[in-house]
Amino acid sequence: MKKGRRILIIGGGAAGLMAAVAAAKNGVEVIILEGLNRVGKKILATGNGRCNLTNIHMDIRRFHGKNPKFAFGALGQFDVEQTMNFFDFLGIKCKTEEGGKVYPYSDQATSVLDVLRYELQQLGVKEECEKEVVEIKIKNQSFEITIKDGSKIKGDKVIVATGGMASPQLGSNGGGYKLLKDLGHRLIEPIPALVQLKLQATFLKQLKGVKFIGEASLMEGDKLIRVEGGEILFTEYGISGPPILQLSRGVSEELIKKNIPYIILDLFPQLLTKDLEELLQLRLAYQPQKSLQFNFVGLINKRLIPVILKEAGIDNIQKISSQVNIKEIEAIAYLLKNWKLKAIGTQDWKHAQVTAGGIDVEQVDSKTLESKLVKGLYVVGELLDIDGDCGGFNLQWAWSSGYIAGEDAALSNR
Ligand SMILES: Cc1cc2nc3c(=O)[nH]c(=O)nc-3n(C[C@H](O)[C@H](O)[C@H](O)COP(=O)(O)OP(=O)(O)OC[C@H]3O[C@@H](n4cnc5c(N)ncnc54)[C@H](O)[C@@H]3O)c2cc1C
Repeated sequence: MKKGRRILIIGGGAAGLMAAVAAAKNGVEVIILEGLNRVGKKILATGNGRCNLTNIHMDIRRFHGKNPKFAFGALGQFDVEQTMNFFDFLGIKCKTEEGGKVYPYSDQATSVLDVLRYELQQLGVKEECEKEVVEIKIKNQSFEITIKDGSKIKGDKVIVATGGMASPQLGSNGGGYKLLKDLGHRLIEPIPALVQLKLQATFLKQLKGVKFIGEASLMEGDKLIRVEGGEILFTEYGISGPPILQLSRGVSEELIKKNIPYIILDLFPQLLTKDLEELLQLRLAYQPQKSLQFNFVGLINKRLIPVILKEAGIDNIQKISSQVNIKEIEAIAYLLKNWKLKAIGTQDWKHAQVTAGGIDVEQVDSKTLESKLVKGLYVVGELLDIDGDCGGFNLQWAWSSGYIAGEDAALSNR
């Protein structure tokens, strides 16, 4: 694109800010139009305020959507190494933690936003906040954008980076879908992902706050959909923790299909059921005078004991251990390894970290992120029907897609 031309970026989140840097580096005028009173609010909330900015175990299987392979295009052109080098150049020294998760050494998401904004300032990019875009019009091979207050702004190319619907309190309220649907783009129904689950169970109040390290499997009927391990947390409405967030996308999908998804908890993934039975038998035989309930103290969280024993069908949990028969021990061991809980929904958009679904990638060029319907219009980040697992994959998608679109918008003469 010729110098002196203007690129408008709608949305100042991770993808929009990255697109702005990539475009401005190539000498074009760049203006970011952001609906909120400042850019990058969601970046500040990422990784519990530490910003898990990417993951060194990049793998296309960590991405989802109707056609996850679409993500190859951008992830291959602006990959994890380039992303880490990019941030290193801006001053963010990266460190890698468990599971390949990458964070800034400072452990502060704010440092990531600060260096991006500094770079934008150096490159002369204008950040215009409280400019919610309500319409994109194509006029004589360029664009006219209408802001909510009625004002208009013209540009030669437009990059739409408005995010999805997850955490609308951080700006992404689904408004971008309308902008693109008005220009003929298809929307794959958005559903909350990386979100806590609601369970149908009577004991949730009793267990609120109880944590354990274990495994959670998502099942529909006899079909195993996915298994995840890590810290699992009971809440007053259901269940949370990283493994549960990973399973939530699958739960949303099953519920949409009107299926009944179940979460199977394994509190002892390191033991086979028969080894756990043996361990319980030994424990009960070692202190036969102790009550059954008390015999579990030190083995599982105290608040879990009465719930587990009741769920395993033990009526009198106070009986002395010597009165517990082998069938009861088997039932308890089985439950500890296969605790079946019915998932009845997810928490709402406010609690979701990411959106599954979005603008159909079929109508977007995977190598440039340019719309196949409207020349000069680009669609990036979470707004598209691509979502990643927990662990830095979503930000990487935002960085990669933003960068590629920004560069192409600045350099191509289309
Ligand atoms: C609490 C939380 C923690 C997370 N932690 C991580 C993590 O550690 N690692 C990871 O990889 N991912 C994480 N994610 C996911 C990740 O943050 C997002 O996938 C990513 O930020 C999406 O970037 P985006 O630029 O596409 O969209 P967004 O970040 O949502 O940015 C969209 C921007 O567009 C603006 N906007 C929307 N509509 C308009 C409009 N009409 N006009 C003008 N502006 C508009 C919004 O205000 C917003 O600033 C987390 C998400 C949440 C909510």
